[in-house]
Amino acid sequence: MEREQIAYPRRQPDRVGEDVRLRNWAGNATLAPAGSISAPRTEMELQSLVRTSEGGIKMIGSRMSPGRMLELAAHGDTLLDLSALTGLIETTEDTATFAGATPLEAVYAELSARGRMLPSSPGVIASQTLAGALATGTHGQGLQQSCIADAATRVRMVLADGSVAEFDHDHPWFPAVRLGLGLLGVITRVTLRTVASPVYTCLKNAVSADTLEVDLENWNRDYPLSKSWWFPDENLVHVWVAREATGAEVERYRGNDGQLVEHDVTSDVLNQTIDQTLTQMRNDTKIVDEHGKPFRTVTRFKDFTDVTGDIYQVFCRGIATPQINVEIAIPLAQAGGLVKKIKDWHAETRPRMHYPIILRCTGPSDSWLSPAYGQDTCFFGFVVYYAEDGSLNAEGVSFLRAVEQVLAAEGGRPHWGKYFDEALYDWPVLYPEWEAFRQVREALDPQHRFDNAFTAALFN
Ligand SMILES: Cc1cc2nc3c(=O)[nH]c(=O)nc-3n(C[C@H](O)[C@H](O)[C@H](O)COP(=O)(O)OP(=O)(O)OC[C@H]3O[C@@H](n4cnc5c(N)ncnc54)[C@H](O)[C@@H]3O)c2cc1C
Repeated sequence: MEREQIAYPRRQPDRVGEDVRLRNWAGNATLAPAGSISAPRTEMELQSLVRTSEGGIKMIGSRMSPGRMLELAAHGDTLLDLSALTGLIETTEDTATFAGATPLEAVYAELSARGRMLPSSPGVIASQTLAGALATGTHGQGLQQSCIADAATRVRMVLADGSVAEFDHDHPWFPAVRLGLGLLGVITRVTLRTVASPVYTCLKNAVSADTLEVDLENWNRDYPLSKSWWFPDENLVHVWVAREATGAEVERYRGNDGQLVEHDVTSDVLNQTIDQTLTQMRNDTKIVDEHGKPFRTVTRFKDFTDVTGDIYQVFCRGIATPQINVEIAIPLAQAGGLVKKIKDWHAETRPRMHYPIILRCTGPSDSWLSPAYGQDTCFFGFVVYYAEDGSLNAEGVSFLRAVEQVLAAEGGRPHWGKYFDEALYDWPVLYPEWEAFRQVREALDPQHRFDNAFTAALFN
């Protein structure tokens, strides 16, 4: 089989009566044969299941990762659905403890209701589970923070022998435990640090990409939160920068019942670019419904306005659509040079793109296997949406393959919960604590019960 088909599998049509938990969310991978799922109702039930079962175990959250992160290794192994173990467990002045399978949207809603937020900013959607987000290094944007795993101060897990262990911030293995790729134990509880939640005003603009090499770092240095979408075909960047709201803006927000306020002035400077992008998307996906989800991910950029709201209202507004998403982290110090390299490569090859390049920077992470470990980082994100029939546009796929090679050659570290070609990466070179992580895994799961084919190949 071609590498492309392995890396970016076709979506399979939904099958009537099938247990959806047996496939990943994108529907492009079967995780386990029927009858493999166990859904414990309590932590004790989970312990007993782990103790008495034989063979391998894989945990599923919202199944938004590529299938290879979630697939069982062998017939007779167990796929663990933890969706009964959710919800808020306790709060203190500056922490909140949730069950591991709590969806992020529930975490954010609980915190917002208390005027709190995580000290790490959200990704574009919040349907992931807390444990799934931790395990894969899920992140948002802003140099003053890093991935969601870094907000964890204590993690409770059921280990491979069925015992329960808690690890806190002072434990020497904590940098492995909080971002563990699902290899160290079943996360049942996570305590997160919380901070007061300010009201932000997000200023939106569309600018030429001529000076993106320097602008990107400046936007991120000058504002606590920033995100941008780069349209190389049009040499344009749509940029969001957020600062704390002024007194008047806060007042208007409160007067709007704490709902996101859209400012009065709208800008149509992106509308033509969006129309071109939509034409390309329509051709590539053959989706006829004008309001189809992939289209809505870009039509929202038309007639944009500045907005005022809390961090979740401003940044967590994505529309989850089946897609192949490649996201590679580059040290921020190299990001300007890489932008130039992508520009030159784009001018030379004119690759077909039906979605802008998403640029998000974060501060250094303390988690050993975080793509942002130890350094200010810029994540370059690339998306190709599935066509109506479950296929992927061939030119879109070649673009993803080619651009990933450019970024991998720069020492890029791929997002664990997205798609990447593992043959391009030398893990122990990319991650200085790779061996230390391996040793923690040997200590916590000496029989590698939490492995599958993909993770075994990474580490063995
Ligand atoms: C539409 C879309 C938008 C996205 N947006 C972003 C974004 O803005 N930022 C970003 O960084 N990422 C983003 N992602 C990636 C996403 O955050 C990751 O794939 C994340 O892992 C999904 O969480 P999940 O609950 O679906 O985990 P799953 O995919 O179900 O699992 C991921 C990993 O966590 C492990 N795991 C699950 N539950 C447990 C548990 N209880 N204990 C131990 N291990 C466990 C699994 O075994 C697996 O290894 C996006 C993905 C999609 C599809």
